[in-house]
Amino acid sequence: MGYSPSTQPKSGLEDRFGRHITYLRVSVTDRCDFRCVYCMAENMSFLPRRDLLTLEELDRICSAFVSRGVRKLRITGGEPLVRKNIMSLFRSLSRHLESGALEEVTLTTNGSQLKRFAHDLRAAGVRRINLSLDTLDPDRFRSITRWGKLETVMDGLDAADAAGLKVKINTVALKGVNEDEFNNLIRFTHERGYDLTFIETMPMGDVDGDRTDQYLPLSVVRERLMDHWTLQESDYRTGGPARYVTVAETGGRVGFITPLTHNFCESCNRVRLTCTGTLYMCLGQNDKVDLRAPLREGAGDEGLHAAIDEAMLLKPKGHDFIIDRKTRKPAVARHMSVTGG
Ligand code: SAM
Ligand code: SF4
Repeated sequence: MGYSPSTQPKSGLEDRFGRHITYLRVSVTDRCDFRCVYCMAENMSFLPRRDLLTLEELDRICSAFVSRGVRKLRITGGEPLVRKNIMSLFRSLSRHLESGALEEVTLTTNGSQLKRFAHDLRAAGVRRINLSLDTLDPDRFRSITRWGKLETVMDGLDAADAAGLKVKINTVALKGVNEDEFNNLIRFTHERGYDLTFIETMPMGDVDGDRTDQYLPLSVVRERLMDHWTLQESDYRTGGPARYVTVAETGGRVGFITPLTHNFCESCNRVRLTCTGTLYMCLGQNDKVDLRAPLREGAGDEGLHAAIDEAMLLKPKGHDFIIDRKTRKPAVARHMSVTGG
């Protein structure tokens, strides 16, 4: 791997609303070793391997975006660390960190494989990771993730600390499931020096169950937290959609990602690449362009860049997440594990 684009420098990426695209999220697999209840059905059918971008194709597309001014890459999935040979992609992308073209490569993970990979990730230039953790109770962890084991993830966190990776914890707020644990999660994460971000459930893809049952507005979460903690408004931003507060008692930060109740589209700087090479312009809309086709049809860099330019014209002004109350079906049919959360 290590393909270098041969073309002249290209212009940066700007959409019709003047937003500069500097952040690419990349799903490297739709597979996962967990089956979180809000994310996947227990019996998922996964994509045939030939449909997935190869690691070389992933590198080539990422590099094309870097040459167009993308400064941040986030590797996600599915569970990115279950993709075979995934470390070779991280190692290959690190050349853009070394050249200064890329500011950072980050990872979103469930932590199951972190014990094995934390050190190598750090060596490949990764400095920050997001780890999804919805509960600190082993039984509950098993019932939320269906297949996961809390202890393994805790070992992964220890390995991340030992490797010097900065960790942020993402917790999906689930009504009637983990809402009694939020104070504990704040204590746990802040004691370990991690930020904690709460995420509202997003209606993406069919799961086994009724999503309107899982939905817990973060406005409610925030109100409840204020009974226990002093939340100070913070202008801290990570370039993502989270809004942060500082908890006076711990000095740590808590973020809120509220796609359903709050619109963060006006500052959106990101696009998402699926593991099959479809570029989605918005997590909550279906505007997309296929980048795999030009690659597999042998198009040179010009063809790839032309497809990326075409995609920029499609980025919508905002999103439209709805759970249809009659059908109880999500407005966006694809699973988060395909687009990458
Ligand atoms: N497997 C990795 C993980 O769990 O972190 C990366 C992929 S996962 C799809 C990325 C993030 O999306 C996780 O934090 C997960 O909790 C979140 N997520 C998945 N489905 C969701 C949904 N329907 N609503 C809100 N967040 C969701
Ligand atoms: Fe897997 Fe992450 Fe989805 Fe859970 S949220 S099933 S860990 S992809």
